Amino acid sequence: MSRRPRLRFRVLGSGSTGNATIVEGGGVRVLVDAGLGPRQLRERLASADVDPASVDLVLLSHEHGDHARGATAFVAKWGMPLASTRGTWQAAGFGAEELPGYETIEPGGELRLGGLVVRAVAVPHDAAGPVAFVLSVGGVSLGHATDLGHLGPRLAQAFRGCHALLLESNYDPAMLRDGPYPWALKERILGPLGHLSNGDVGRYIERGMGEDCRHVVLAHLSQKNNHPELALLEAEEALRRRGSCGVSLTVATAEGAGWFTVRAGGENRPEAGQLRLF
Ligand SMILES: [Zn+2]
Ligand SMILES: [Zn+2]
Repeated sequence: MSRRPRLRFRVLGSGSTGNATIVEGGGVRVLVDAGLGPRQLRERLASADVDPASVDLVLLSHEHGDHARGATAFVAKWGMPLASTRGTWQAAGFGAEELPGYETIEPGGELRLGGLVVRAVAVPHDAAGPVAFVLSVGGVSLGHATDLGHLGPRLAQAFRGCHALLLESNYDPAMLRDGPYPWALKERILGPLGHLSNGDVGRYIERGMGEDCRHVVLAHLSQKNNHPELALLEAEEALRRRGSCGVSLTVATAEGAGWFTVRAGGENRPEAGQLRLF
């Protein structure tokens, strides 16, 4: 078995019903977002064969319920620290909670745990201190960004060396426009502090994504304003326009996705049972 550095990740839930992703690497396990209730989180971790007590840190991208609602109950039960920006900490009311441990990570800053390095990058979203993360082990990196109104140069730069990306592809503009949401909510989603559309992701894949990226997980799809086939099609067409081959695409459903192993140097691949789509 290869001893080269690697990361493994598995989406446990994705979208407005709850987001959580387990990331392993450098001898540690981190739960990125905990937007599922205690029972669901326990069940999804069990199906990923992860003992909740073995999670070393819960890392939150922002305070919205679909990312944070299960966090305090989970850390209280299993005893690991929680990490977020100060803005998320305040907005989520963590000051009033008895937490087993707390660490701050601010945009531009980093947090080290075992061999894993986590860097935070500010993202435009209507929350108190929302961030994307780059999680790295020995030069192998995963970028994680859900809930952002647009993908600007700062995040594109931070994601440039990533070997895999988990990226929001929230809505299809026509479905959102013609769909059931009230106009104020449509405006919020479409706005600069809302969510990324399939087209936003396509433009990023075509023009902004780094050469080292071998796998993209499309995440946080709206169940009302998007369809997995539409999100995939947009990303596939962007890869074709870019002339890239050897980049696999997967959609994370509300129930999550399987394990992905990330390595440097083109060996990046979904594990058995995962469909290679491009
Ligand atoms: Zn969200
Ligand atoms: Zn949000």
